[in-house]
Amino acid sequence: MCSSVGATRTQFTLICCAALALSSNAALAGPPSIDMHVHAKNAVQEGPQHPSNVASMHEYKAEADTNNVVLFAASGAHQFVDSWFEYFGDRMLAGASFPCINGLTNFEGETDGRQACFPNEGMFPDVAWLHDRIESGQIQILGELGMQYAGISFDDDRLTPYYEMAEALDIPIAFHTSGGPPKTAERCCDDFRLSIGDPVKLEEILVRYPKLRVQIMHANVLTYPGLLRLLQQFPNVFVDLTPFSSILPEEGFHQMLRTYRMHGLLNRIMFATDDFPVAATLAAYRKADFLTADELSGIECRNAQRFLGLEDVCDSGY
Ligand SMILES: [Zn+2]
Repeated sequence: MCSSVGATRTQFTLICCAALALSSNAALAGPPSIDMHVHAKNAVQEGPQHPSNVASMHEYKAEADTNNVVLFAASGAHQFVDSWFEYFGDRMLAGASFPCINGLTNFEGETDGRQACFPNEGMFPDVAWLHDRIESGQIQILGELGMQYAGISFDDDRLTPYYEMAEALDIPIAFHTSGGPPKTAERCCDDFRLSIGDPVKLEEILVRYPKLRVQIMHANVLTYPGLLRLLQQFPNVFVDLTPFSSILPEEGFHQMLRTYRMHGLLNRIMFATDDFPVAATLAAYRKADFLTADELSGIECRNAQRFLGLEDVCDSGY
């Protein structure tokens, strides 16, 4: 990077900023971040090569470039994940998302544009197929796992082979928890129940599979205070705060951050957007002026880097 030999601190800062501005977008785009919750989504029913679907991929890239997102995790229908992965390469962690009601993607209550999750068109991926995809580096994370939408509890026997695989192959696993949009059971997913999504119910899985690296999505400690004790019990569990970073008023979101901080758990929070705008989501954290620079850079990048077992991704830029 920059050398400070023979320069005062002010000169050093000026030299470094000028060099970075000339050499990459990093200085313009702000500090690096990792976005741990993205959907390789489709805008229209057709396949990933349809211009509207390509445009939605480009839209995320533009936001990621502008905001210096150095790495992100994206899941969705397998053809879309493949298409995004081909386009983004190692800037993306490709995720397998299940279970799938009637074999189709089921998030956000969407009934239009739903796609087959897997080649077998089943609710779950074929175990051997998934194993091969992980071994060949085409899938690096299990999740978003939206069991709640399908009315399937975290400890359902049908999930056993996937937990065993994630633990054996040491890949992270990301659970949808908490809730969903209003009237989810009526609008899309008959078996959706709030009670199934209580994140504290992950305890049984965490005890049974102690080596699992777990991301709890939508980890709202204000509505699920038991999460605090869960995180204290299991240091290998990290969280994302979508969509609350985007939908709560600033005061409410900052109350959530203060609660994590009071319990010494800020270092488990990983920045994520869940398809909300990247800049506004980053701003929600950056406006929390009670966070130290270290705490903020942990949330934006370094906590995820640690969770993923990576070394220097937060020292790079796009
Ligand atoms: Zn979710």
